[in-house]
Amino acid sequence: MIKQYFFIAMLSMIPAGIILYFLIHLAKGLLGMVSDRTLHKELDELAAHGESRRQAREASNQKRLDNGCQHDFDGALGGFPPGVCHKCGLASTKPNGACDHVWRAGEGGSPHSACEKCGRQYNPAKERRALA
Ligand SMILES: [Zn+2]
Ligand SMILES: [Zn+2]
Repeated sequence: MIKQYFFIAMLSMIPAGIILYFLIHLAKGLLGMVSDRTLHKELDELAAHGESRRQAREASNQKRLDNGCQHDFDGALGGFPPGVCHKCGLASTKPNGACDHVWRAGEGGSPHSACEKCGRQYNPAKERRALA
């Protein structure tokens, strides 16, 4: 009698085990979907954040360049660094360093320039030699 009960109990364990197995799989799948979605959301937010930061930087750069000068960023004229307006001396984008250089053409024979704020020198002939 007891043996029979045991046998029935064992038999009923098998479908229960199968159901449990499927339930675990289903739960795992659902969890994967949820975490995928949160990941996508985070990536979207990150992208939006980067975009707004880029726009803010662009806006501040526009304000920085708004000094009444009709910029001409062809710095090659008069020994200015590349991307520098040869009329007012500002670079088209803010330099990475501490100084937002304002380049002024230097006196002398060969074209060169210097920042009037930090005194940094720029000499196209020397730069070219350094790059070569
Ligand atoms: Zn300018
Ligand atoms: Zn400077």
